[in-house]
Amino acid sequence: MFLNRRTFTASVGAVAGLSQLIPIGRANANASTPLFVATWNFGLASCRKSLEVLQQSGSLLDAVELGIQVAEADLKNDSVGVGGAPNADGVVQLDACFMDGATHRAGSVAGLENYPHPISVARRVMEKTKHVLLVGDGAAAFAQSQGFKKQELLTEEQKKKWEAWKSKQPAPGAAPPNHDTIALVGLDANGHLAGGCSTSGLAYKLAGRVGDSPILGGGLYVDGEVGAAGATGIGENIMRSCGTFLIVEFMRNGMEPTQACKAAIDRIAKSERKPISELHINFLAIDKKGRWGGAGTDNSYEIAVVTSNSATLEKPFLVK
Ligand code: ASP
Repeated sequence: MFLNRRTFTASVGAVAGLSQLIPIGRANANASTPLFVATWNFGLASCRKSLEVLQQSGSLLDAVELGIQVAEADLKNDSVGVGGAPNADGVVQLDACFMDGATHRAGSVAGLENYPHPISVARRVMEKTKHVLLVGDGAAAFAQSQGFKKQELLTEEQKKKWEAWKSKQPAPGAAPPNHDTIALVGLDANGHLAGGCSTSGLAYKLAGRVGDSPILGGGLYVDGEVGAAGATGIGENIMRSCGTFLIVEFMRNGMEPTQACKAAIDRIAKSERKPISELHINFLAIDKKGRWGGAGTDNSYEIAVVTSNSATLEKPFLVK
């Protein structure tokens, strides 16, 4: 989200009474485990679900998957799962990935149509196949073979918005600014790290366009020995520099999470040769010690941080 979607006040009120505002730059703290961190204000409901699942089941992988499912099922969220904005042809195509730091296994789906929970299909790719990434019809056939239920993902509201956009005869791929991917990373008390990322991608993208979100090292990366990082924003700017892989490598070399996110943005800005204000890239990271942080180029960017005794929305470091 970088222009107009929810006001900060409204979003904080909507998600929970526990939410609180923390000034920009404060987001790099020690936190106890278990720890869940996710992108955007809606990440708070997802992280809360993740904590609940972890406390009940003890499974970090279930916690990550079911937490992300909350955002995917939210009809008000127009960038994730059902209710997500369609592509330029009016079709909702979803991207997701899932990564387990303990085993270095991962699974992804891209351009998946008619299945509301791509995060679950991505996890199934990881667990049931020898592959990492399935796309388009192949991903849908796999989802069907695994018993996932089909569903129409385009809501009436999104259809009307798309028709209005289309009626202006926009250039192909000329999408209005819109991004709100969920990337959620978690660390349990045993030092187990995992994460997932799920999105409908940029609104009115060209059919078949795949962003950073299902690409390991793009929208998400988890290294069981170091930490995890997630991304939201204009995927092309993130993918060209393997943004989340870079952040994890910076942490491996000793940086704290916020410092690593900021360093990745600096690197990307240099490589992209674009002003910071045009990048629209936002990151979060956690390390194996339970420290969390984030940095982004969008003023509206915020991250949800949930532990067993706190649930807050935080303003990550703003790179200008
Ligand atoms: N990163 C996503 C993409 O480029 C968009 C988003 O963050 O909402 O597909």
